[in-house]
Amino acid sequence: MASKIQEVLGSAAAIAKGMGITFREMLQPTITEDYPDGPALFQERYRGSHELQRDENGMEKCVACFLCAAACPAECIYIEAAENTDKLRMSGGERYASVYNIDYSRCIFCGYCVEACPTDAITHGHGFEQASYNTSTLIIRKEKMLVAIPEGAKQQVLEPVAGAH
Ligand code: SF4
Ligand code: SF4
Repeated sequence: MASKIQEVLGSAAAIAKGMGITFREMLQPTITEDYPDGPALFQERYRGSHELQRDENGMEKCVACFLCAAACPAECIYIEAAENTDKLRMSGGERYASVYNIDYSRCIFCGYCVEACPTDAITHGHGFEQASYNTSTLIIRKEKMLVAIPEGAKQQVLEPVAGAH
């Protein structure tokens, strides 16, 4: 009998707690998203289009280790590695990615590439407008993913020289 009463009280407490949350939310202002007339709002951890990051000196963080490509279950990352030289230094490591493509017709935005990257070079941004009727436009290249050189960077990046690769 005592256990029955405890069960009823427990259920009543759970219902009261749930209704309390409902009433509290009812009193909050309604938020309506205006997309596409206004910007879409995302949670910080939203996994959108990829970005290739730079360090504080403007160097590319990607060192062409291929770990992201190895971790990708959709096999949609294509990388070509090149050596940094005295005349052409693109990253802080020995190598950099001269080509880095992601095929968005296959990417499932699982985030495994981001988790696998030892230098935090590849991250998810909040871009999402990638739809296309032409799948050839869904191969996103390094040039599109690479973030701008940060303001105040020491500008150590040397410009590519003709015929360097
Ligand atoms: S998010 Fe997943 S599927 Fe897309 S490139 Fe990264 S590892 Fe591959
Ligand atoms: S993005 Fe990261 S994991 Fe992928 S090749 Fe570059 S450094 Fe390696």
